[in-house]
Amino acid sequence: MIKLVAVDPDKCTGCRLCEMACSFHHEQECNSTKSRIRILHGKEWAFDFPLLCMQCAEAPCVESCPTKALIRMRVLV
Ligand code: SF4
Ligand code: SF4
Repeated sequence: MIKLVAVDPDKCTGCRLCEMACSFHHEQECNSTKSRIRILHGKEWAFDFPLLCMQCAEAPCVESCPTKALIRMRVLV
């Protein structure tokens, strides 16, 4: 079984709070370059999309998301 964080791209606003939560949790610093989750955004795209990680036991990124775009899941493989 693996743990992962899934995203609903329709709910993601690109606010980057999840990046800040991850960075602060692991590095005690609000710095998106130190986050394990990355929000992809491009002018040619019509949406923002988080690149996800599956490492953290507590997942403060999920708790930080104001639109509930991130969901913690366990998947049997
Ligand atoms: S996943 Fe949630 S917290 Fe992260 S950028 Fe999207 S809306 Fe913001
Ligand atoms: S699961 Fe943990 S390590 Fe991964 S992005 Fe979320 S807070 Fe960061």
